Amino acid sequence: MDHDADVVVVGAGPAGLLLAGDLARAGVRCLLLERRTDRSGLTRAFAVHARTLEQLDARGIADELIASGTQVHVLRFFDDAALDLSGLPSRFPYVLITPQYETERVLEERARSLGADIRYGHKVAGLTQHRDGVDVQVEEDGRRPGTLRARYVVGTDGMHSTVRRALGMPFPGKPVVQSVVLADVRLIKPPPETLTANSSGDAFAFIVPFGDGWYRVIAWHRRNQLPESAPVSLDEVSETARQALGVDYGLHEPRWMSRFHSEERQVPRYRDGRVLLAGDAAHVHSPAGGQGMNTSIQDAANLGWKLAAAVQGWAPEGMLDTFDTERHPVGRQVLRTSGALLRFAFTGPQVLGAARTLLVPVATRLPFVTEYMTGAMSGLSISYPAPRGAHSLAGKRVPDWPLADGRRLYEALRGGRFLLAGSRPIPPGIASGYGDRLDMAEVAYPPGIIALIRPDAYTAWAARWSDGLSPSQVRGALVHWCGSPGNHG
Ligand SMILES: Cc1cc2nc3c(=O)[nH]c(=O)nc-3n(C[C@H](O)[C@H](O)[C@H](O)COP(=O)(O)OP(=O)(O)OC[C@H]3O[C@@H](n4cnc5c(N)ncnc54)[C@H](O)[C@@H]3O)c2cc1C
Repeated sequence: MDHDADVVVVGAGPAGLLLAGDLARAGVRCLLLERRTDRSGLTRAFAVHARTLEQLDARGIADELIASGTQVHVLRFFDDAALDLSGLPSRFPYVLITPQYETERVLEERARSLGADIRYGHKVAGLTQHRDGVDVQVEEDGRRPGTLRARYVVGTDGMHSTVRRALGMPFPGKPVVQSVVLADVRLIKPPPETLTANSSGDAFAFIVPFGDGWYRVIAWHRRNQLPESAPVSLDEVSETARQALGVDYGLHEPRWMSRFHSEERQVPRYRDGRVLLAGDAAHVHSPAGGQGMNTSIQDAANLGWKLAAAVQGWAPEGMLDTFDTERHPVGRQVLRTSGALLRFAFTGPQVLGAARTLLVPVATRLPFVTEYMTGAMSGLSISYPAPRGAHSLAGKRVPDWPLADGRRLYEALRGGRFLLAGSRPIPPGIASGYGDRLDMAEVAYPPGIIALIRPDAYTAWAARWSDGLSPSQVRGALVHWCGSPGNHG
């Protein structure tokens, strides 16, 4: 069977763009199809968390995105509560506030520079799986539909995913909150804090600066529940903001306003044969905590190298299935925490309202509470299952260790390959036959360790030299994670 591409990625949102870039970097022929005719100028997400910035750093594009936004080190909410991110064990101890279209621009420029073929005005209408590939029905700029063949297809086509529907995959869940209004406005007298959020009585409001004079206002009023199609007026936004925050900061000049209903849904599995689902196509949840785009980007970071390995023929048995077994539980957890946060923020004025006012300020001063909350929100505490008896680092996010040659570990990962890193020089012969997918490095810190780092900056395997480590143990880890040796490129 002739294939038009190794992988067709459907949907050029943040997940599709990062994935297309990773596949292209690995030398995979990748086609990214987007139904929009041009880049999006609208922003939904505006918060980029530390773990996402680390993933971008491992691709050499974090600094460019950071230059487009504002760093917020302390999140203040509910009058007297604050969450201090400045102690996060990361190069990025803050949340970056930048419009989603900036994140997409940086990801798209990278993907193009690596050779990804990105086609706007290409709407996927359906697909059919065969034993050796997938036929994708594509409508190009409204012309007659055509068919493209790929070895694999990834649906990163958002909440209303056509790919998901073509698979007949259920998307079970429920609505969580109705009639949340969004408005991008200017303010006569902006609030002193970068992020301003509060709820009072029946009203909740949240104000975020984009850094260019425009502000995003998110407002919700318990007694103002309208259908999604009902137009939003500036008076409605101002009045809710005034009730929640005590002042509306002189909201004016709206350039975009919208009303949306938030839902919590997740597919039962992220893989069906040669078709995979990532990002909002696989899970949607409340925007509270700003997790949607971040989770979608990290889905893509988890999938790219596994899919490249499958296309190139060196993926160990079951490797591609680990996209589902690792990322599905993360998605489920995000649904739970963002749902709980939203219910807490939008809760009624009586019992929980009092708890929020009294308990949250106290709770956010307890170190174990803040550590848990900042770890979850930033994505730094995400880890993947490791076998019983494995080293404590296995499955965990790898810190940005300094290397003996002066680089940082995340710089050494920019080729998208595995990294065998040791606190002393590793005999090169140990990795013979893996030159097409593995680099080696000596770390200046931590001492006494040897670790196999995955391309997505999680520790695959680790051991202590002092435990009498044999070359065959290292070799066993390489075969388990990197497949059998030999040039498959
Ligand atoms: C109001 C609102 C506020 C939000 N705020 C935040 C926030 O603060 N922080 C956060 O992290 N997340 C937030 N999110 C969620 C975030 O925007 C999404 O999680 C993120 O965009 C998901 O990225 P994605 O790449 O999976 O999908 P999307 O960004 O939805 O991209 C899907 C792409 O697929 C394309 N497409 C769809 N169907 C087809 C087809 N048939 N053929 C070809 N192309 C197709 C679409 O045009 C689109 O470009 C918010 C969402 C909403 C609705």
